[in-house]
Amino acid sequence: MSKSMTVCPVCKGSIYNGTTVFKVKTGNGILVLEDVPAEICSLCGEKWFSDEVMEKIELIADDVRKRHIKFEIMTFNAA
Ligand SMILES: [Zn+2]
Repeated sequence: MSKSMTVCPVCKGSIYNGTTVFKVKTGNGILVLEDVPAEICSLCGEKWFSDEVMEKIELIADDVRKRHIKFEIMTFNAA
């Protein structure tokens, strides 16, 4: 993780490293990724993703888009 935050810029709550569910629209479908690593605010629930994670999400979404899948659910690490 390139830049790590400890305090939430939204509410000043503390941020922890966890995992979350990420939903992304893929044209005519929807992709749901589970266990996506994120920095999460313990107070307001705001989430941040690293550049590496965002790039990987984009690659997976592209693949789903190409295969014209309407609904796909995946675990991030296994994808
Ligand atoms: Zn917050």
